[in-house]
Parts: sequence; C-alpha cells; structure tokens
Amino acid sequence: MASSNDTSARPRVLVLGGGFAGVGAAQKLKDAEADVVLVDRHDYHTFQPLLYQLATGLLETTAVGHSLRDLLERQDNTTVHQASVTSVDLDTREVRFDELDPITYDYLVFGLGAEVNYFGTEGAAEHAFPMYTLPNADRLKDHLIERWEAADRDPSIIEDGALNVVVVGGGPTGVETAGAVAELYRHAFSKDFPAVTTEQARVILVEAGPELFAMFKPKLREYATKALTERTVEVRTGELVSSVSPTRVTLKSGEELKAHTLVWGAGLQGNELVKSLGIELDRGNRIAVGPDLTIPDHPEVHVLGDVAAITDAKTEQVLPQLGSVALQSGEHAGETIARRIAGKEAKPFEYKDKGTMAMIGRGAAVVQFLRGRTMTGKKAQIAWGTVHLALLPTNEDRAKAVVDWAGAAFTHQRVGRITVGSD
Ligand SMILES: Cc1cc2nc3c(=O)[nH]c(=O)nc-3n(C[C@H](O)[C@H](O)[C@H](O)COP(=O)(O)OP(=O)(O)OC[C@H]3O[C@@H](n4cnc5c(N)ncnc54)[C@H](O)[C@@H]3O)c2cc1C
Repeated sequence: MASSNDTSARPRVLVLGGGFAGVGAAQKLKDAEADVVLVDRHDYHTFQPLLYQLATGLLETTAVGHSLRDLLERQDNTTVHQASVTSVDLDTREVRFDELDPITYDYLVFGLGAEVNYFGTEGAAEHAFPMYTLPNADRLKDHLIERWEAADRDPSIIEDGALNVVVVGGGPTGVETAGAVAELYRHAFSKDFPAVTTEQARVILVEAGPELFAMFKPKLREYATKALTERTVEVRTGELVSSVSPTRVTLKSGEELKAHTLVWGAGLQGNELVKSLGIELDRGNRIAVGPDLTIPDHPEVHVLGDVAAITDAKTEQVLPQLGSVALQSGEHAGETIARRIAGKEAKPFEYKDKGTMAMIGRGAAVVQFLRGRTMTGKKAQIAWGTVHLALLPTNEDRAKAVVDWAGAAFTHQRVGRITVGSD
C-alpha cells in the first residue's frame, strides 16, 4: 500500500468509511491511475447483517469484523488510515479528521453509513443495547452471559427480570435478534445453566406498528409472528417503549416490564456528518443522489450506501438500506471514478436485486424480491445464507461462517458464548 503523504500528480480519491460501500469503491479502484485513501474510525470492516449472530454466540468476532488493511493489502495505490471524520468542505474539497491532518481530494466517496436513532426515548441512550457496531454486539453478548451467571449464583434475581430481554423494533434487526436470543436461551443456556429455570426467562418483541415486518407482504408478516411465537418470543404489536432504566422498560400504555436488557433495533438515520455537506436531506438523514450516484453540482462527490437515497431506475422506488445496495453502489462509484480518470463517460447505476430477507431462527427465514416473489422456511434460509456468504469480504470469512453455521445447525452449538473481559 502507498502512503497518503506521497506527492503525486495522480488524482486523489478519498474514501470515507470502510463499510460495504467504501470497501466496494476502493476495491474497484485497484487498477486506476489514482492515489486512493480510505479512512474509517475503525481498523476493520463490520459485517452488520451478522452482528446478531455475534451477540448470541453463533459466530466469533473475526467472522464479523475483518481488517481493512488486509482487505486492501494487494492494492499498491491505496492507503488506509484509522481516524474519525469531523467535517467535509465541498467548496475547498477538504475533509477534516480528529487525529489526522486534513486531506484534500479530487474525488470523494462518502460512505459513512447509518447510526442508531432512539427517537428521543427517555433512558435509551444510557441503558439500551443498540445493534450497529462490533462493540455493541460484544457488549450485548457479555451482558446476557453475565446476567445468566448472576442468576445461576442467585436465582432470586430472576423474579426481578434479570434474564428477561425486551427487543424494540419489528423490522429485520429486531426480529432476527429476538429469534436468536430465544434460541440461545432455550437451547444453549438451558443446558449451560441446568439450575436456572429457563421458562422464567422471557424474550419480548415490541413493535409500535400494527404488525411485524412492515416492509414485507402480509403472508410473510404472519409467518414471522408464528415462527417467533413457536420459538417462545412474546410478540407485542401496537406498543411503544416510552422509557428505559437498567431494570425496567415502560410502555406508552403505562405497563412496566421487568427486564434487565433492552435491545434497540427500532430505527436508524444517516450519519450525522451528512449535515456537514450542507445539502438538503431526505427522510432519515439520507441524501438523494442522481443516476451516477453523485450529488447535485458536485460530479466529483459520490454518496453511497445507507446514507444515500438511490432511486431504482426500473421500479422508481428508493432502494432500501441493505448490504447489497451499499456494496453495488460502492462498486459502481469505484468503476465510475476509474472511468472518468481514464477519460471515459460514466454509466448510470443499475441495481441487481438480491431480495430483502431476514432470518427468524433455525429453518425459518423470509425473502421478498423487488418484483414481489417471496420465499419462506428452509428455502428462504438457504437463499439468505447464499446472499450473505456472497457479501462476506473474503473466502476465509465465508469458510468460518459456514463451519459455525453447520455446527449450530446440527448441534445448536454456539461457539462464541464466552466473555473476554479484563483479568
Ligand atoms: C443489525 C443490522 C442487521 C442488518 N442486516 C442486514 C441483512 O441481513 N442484509 C442486508 O443486506 N443488510 C443488512 N443490514 C444493512 C446493512 O448492513 C447496511 O445497509 C450496510 O452495512 C450499509 O453499508 P455502508 O457502507 O453504507 O455503511 P456501513 O456498513 O455502516 O459502513 C460505514 C462505515 O463508516 C465508518 N464511520 C462512520 N462514521 C465515521 C466517522 N465519523 N469517521 C470515520 N469512519 C466512520 C464506520 O466505522 C463504518 O465502517 C443490517 C444492518 C444492521 C445494523
């Protein structure tokens, strides 16, 4: 890899964010006559779709987080820095960071992703467990194990809700997490802690809308509710969480749930830094981009992934915030910049639909394609596995995931259910 201090006559492409979008863009610039600089606040790429599997011990940390330097090491024209972006100045074409000198660019790739939105819920920022980063997932896993160890030592705390988990949000993140926690409880922890009565450990999924999975067709919504209920998840729709404390969750109806764990999977919004671009924002802090994924009046600035509102040319719908949208938009931006540097015309972005999907538990999943086709059950689980394996950044990661998933499928084994705290 090159150093970003190199003074070179080649154009500099600055990639902000090492998520699906940023890595996709940087990898497509491998052979471009450019200096590519990728900056992320972490030194790893996070595979967000599998965070819930890390939180419930199904996968290990290194199957979900992958070194960015490793992903880009075969690119002589690319430098990676670990630093936090603090502002972007579109007029001077300069980006500022917390612990890195400002960097100017000829082309900018803005792929800083989304962040949690607590919608102002009292106590959520302090006490909820969000599910957006590797440390979030690790913290939830450690907390769940810690509560079970505590209940094993002193069963009287179970009555106070020590083992109860409230999951907020009936979208894929909430449903996948609730299903996985229930399976962790009923299969792994019930054997790990034979002295603890698992029936007393409740997993409650709270959704403000009238049904789970608002983005899916009604038959998939019904399927999800049935599959969760079979897995002992209590589904509460039409309920809103109004406040959270370390041991209690209060619903808007006034009901108080005893629970030492509240997982927040209810909402996200584009990274706060989109505001520093000074451009009009769409719903959820997203930026509307043109067919070539650039912003108005700035053909040198590509906005991608979760932070972009990309209108699909075929369906005229805004594409959902998905890994495949982020990866494909990143790859397209990388190719476009490489074409422009080579003096060629840009091509419009065309999304290849891989389906919107969610896992509910072992043998239970749902898939829906943009044109309306759906799948459920084992078939959907296989489709889910295929799409997610393809999204994983390396063959090594794919192999790790397959081994752990196979172990879990045959034996309910959860290899990652250990806590590695301080000595
Ligand atoms: C829990 C969960 C489950 C999901 N499940 C699925 C699924 O099953 N299938 C699917 O297709 N999609 C799923 N998604 C959505 C998918 O993960 C996202 O659409 C995708 O990660 C977006 O990619 P991105 O590159 O835009 O952003 P991200 O992947 O979020 O990457 C953004 C990067 O920017 C970095 N960053 C942020 N702020 C700063 C800063 N100030 N300075 C420096 N770096 C910064 C972050 O560290 C991160 O590496 C899920 C998302 C979540 C949260």
